[in-house]
Amino acid sequence: MRTQVFRGLVLAAVAALAAVVAAQAPAAYDLVIRGGHVLDGAANPWVIADLAVRQDTIAAVGPGLPGRGQREIDARGLVVSPGFIDTHTHARRGIFEVPTADNYVRQGVTTIFEGPDGGSPVPLKPFLDKIAALGISPNWGMFIGQGSVREAIIGRVDRKATADEIAKMKDLVREGMLDGAFGLSTGLFYVPGIFTPTDEVIALAAVAGAMGGLHVSHMRNEASGVIDSVKETIAVGEQGRMPTQITHHKIIGTPNWGRSADTLRLVAEARARGVDVTVDQYPYTASSTGINALLPPWALEGRQADVAARLRDAAQRTRIKAAIVESLKYDRGGGDAKNVQIASCAWDPALAGKNLAEIARARGAEPTLEHAAETVMWIVEQGGASGIFHAIDEADLERILKDPVTMIASDGEVPIFGKASPHPRSYGTFVRVLGRYVRERRAIPLAEAVRKMTSFPAQRVGLLDRGVLRPGMKADIAIWDASTIADTATFEQPHQYAVGVHAVLVNGQVVFERGAMTAARPGKVLYGPAHRAAR
Ligand SMILES: [Zn+2]
Repeated sequence: MRTQVFRGLVLAAVAALAAVVAAQAPAAYDLVIRGGHVLDGAANPWVIADLAVRQDTIAAVGPGLPGRGQREIDARGLVVSPGFIDTHTHARRGIFEVPTADNYVRQGVTTIFEGPDGGSPVPLKPFLDKIAALGISPNWGMFIGQGSVREAIIGRVDRKATADEIAKMKDLVREGMLDGAFGLSTGLFYVPGIFTPTDEVIALAAVAGAMGGLHVSHMRNEASGVIDSVKETIAVGEQGRMPTQITHHKIIGTPNWGRSADTLRLVAEARARGVDVTVDQYPYTASSTGINALLPPWALEGRQADVAARLRDAAQRTRIKAAIVESLKYDRGGGDAKNVQIASCAWDPALAGKNLAEIARARGAEPTLEHAAETVMWIVEQGGASGIFHAIDEADLERILKDPVTMIASDGEVPIFGKASPHPRSYGTFVRVLGRYVRERRAIPLAEAVRKMTSFPAQRVGLLDRGVLRPGMKADIAIWDASTIADTATFEQPHQYAVGVHAVLVNGQVVFERGAMTAARPGKVLYGPAHRAAR
């Protein structure tokens, strides 16, 4: 009897000692996320598993992982996914004021790409060095912009480039790729991209393609000319022998609604014959760009002073006005002056949030399309403004979203919280897809939506170490609640953050948790294929 008591005491002491030793043993990992619904990013169904991080890398994924973390996060009932990758942003607007890019990170976005729509710094290297020195929360990659390259060599003019000029432009594209670009962006809708013939686009894109880059295009026309523009974007990939992407794909203007059936068929047919063409999209039925997008391209050649001179010339003004009325009726005006809203206006910030009908009325005119056109010209003469254009159909949006070759990208920026009236896409793109289009409308399955935000964009730009949750990959991770994740930013009240995201990690460090940004800024400048190959 006494021996048994003694043995019991000894066993208890040994057990207590073992517990003390275990508690003092160095942690096996820096961080372990326990018991979440792990969505790997490759569209597999979730599994309940732990995920362990060591430094900036995923060390292990699996159920009931042994080994303690220096820190542990309880993710039971929450989704654990790769952080979202946004291949189309204008984040240069705001990143120096808000290096934490709260609007993106609070959605679970961990990597953003800049230099879209044909616009980028030229050269890239000094800019990338500035971003690296700034220290930001998400990772940052870039495209080199064809419009900016053309502007640097021949200006904002409507003419063909000479052979010598094309050679110089190719040199700038090559330099951009070596500096770290992931490909060439074009903005054939904008000055000066709009003045570029297709064969010149192909010649430049092919330079980026030969160096492993992707061509991403804001197409020449997203309204009545959308079919020809899709064919042109496909031709760049086909003749340039490189991957090509239709960016922020949409169908603008009521007479054109429904044509996404044709554009997606063109994409599918091109893929069937071996052209590597894909699509990205933001989930809103309004677009946003400069208000001068309502003017005809010929009126926009050159600088602001040139545009103003044309507006002072009576004959040209009449032609410009007629073109704006057309655009308001059939293109991005959506048929009603109410459908065009000012997002931000440097010379009169009070105009932000107001629509053309309201502004026309405030100037003493009935809100007819003619008066709205006059109002647009007046705004352009004062210095311009950025606008929001409600002219996209929900059915086209969902059709494009459901296509397996469509990924999600915001086309947003980094807003200064509370300032101006930006498009809500900057605050809501990714969580809106997960809330409205997955949970509420059941347009696509959850795992598929996450693929469109993670492994697909990563594969597209050649980010081989992000976008999937596997040991050895960088620890860019979002932890969120699939039952509550949602956008709250609206066109009326855009400055509202996403809800339902619990924590976000970039390169293994927590940048957001419990509703607040942390002090960490672990975002890295990411370099494209040509830069990596040259090193
Ligand atoms: Zn664009």
